[in-house]
Amino acid sequence: MNVLVVDDNKMDLMIIKSFVEKAEMSFIEAESASEALNLITQRTVSPDIIVVDWLMPDMDGLELCRLIRNLNLDITPYIIIITASELIEVEYRALDQGADDFIEKPLDGNVFIARLRVGAKLIKMQKKLIELAQKDDLTGLFNRRAGIQSFENHLSRLARSSEQTEHCLIIADIDHFKSINDNYGHLMGDRVLIEIAKRLRETIRPFETVARFGGEEFLIYCEANRTQAEFILKRLKQAISSSLVNLENEMIPVTMSFGCTIIRQYEAKNSPDSFIAKADKLLYQVKDEGRNDFKIGAFN
Ligand code: GH3
Ligand code: MG
Ligand code: MG
Repeated sequence: MNVLVVDDNKMDLMIIKSFVEKAEMSFIEAESASEALNLITQRTVSPDIIVVDWLMPDMDGLELCRLIRNLNLDITPYIIIITASELIEVEYRALDQGADDFIEKPLDGNVFIARLRVGAKLIKMQKKLIELAQKDDLTGLFNRRAGIQSFENHLSRLARSSEQTEHCLIIADIDHFKSINDNYGHLMGDRVLIEIAKRLRETIRPFETVARFGGEEFLIYCEANRTQAEFILKRLKQAISSSLVNLENEMIPVTMSFGCTIIRQYEAKNSPDSFIAKADKLLYQVKDEGRNDFKIGAFN
């Protein structure tokens, strides 16, 4: 559990550090609101819990709280405001601006640690729910919704980029999967899907997207230009077809077909669906021409 503590008072930082460490959580410090914002927006840190001092010279804790809430982070951090003020108005204003908890200074170590643990419990639950909502049960990859969401995030980042770069979207589909089910049974079919998902995931870099798009169809997003995309597709094709899937002494041959749309930076504002449709079209050309291959095409 990462705890970011934002306080302009060095003495208070040291005291809180000792509490955070006693709670066996990781302590990160920022001496001003703007330093905290920089750390968060540049993704230097991804805090689960943020402890914010109400009164700071550059910006008050309330404003910082409001700005953090507007960032739409992957995890909604648990924010605790601390202050020496005893005014009841201060407490409700803090909670009203998006803080989750409010504690008066001087801090009591036991109370503070207990409150940190409440926050940690909620963050754990939040992470579990996000995982459940994003994951495909069978393969453990992103499910369709999470895959499209991730694709959209990559696209909007590409659209904002100042580099004249290209990325690519791939739709991959297992060839004659119906006959794998027919020949070996549906359960073995499921296990083939698990193995294929693993091979795809291992071939693509961790920060790039691999999602189960439908039954035996996958969506892959790579930060790769046309030349690199060709290299990736060769590797993917190879990863699937070069070794048989070995299940319960059955050696099952599997191949896949791939359609790949190249997305140039200035095209990134188009809808995700339009890139998917283009990749699908290329995929079907591969199917028509005999399968176990790939086709790469420009978006327009
Ligand atoms: P093509 O090469 O043209 O893609 O042929 P195909 O047989 O792979 O394609 P088709 O769309 O005709 O069949 C897909 C099959 O995938 C049908 C469906 O029963 C099977 N399928 C979809 N989801 C699952 C799953 O979760 N588990 C199993 N075992 N089979 C699945
Ligand atoms: Mg298929
Ligand atoms: Mg299909």
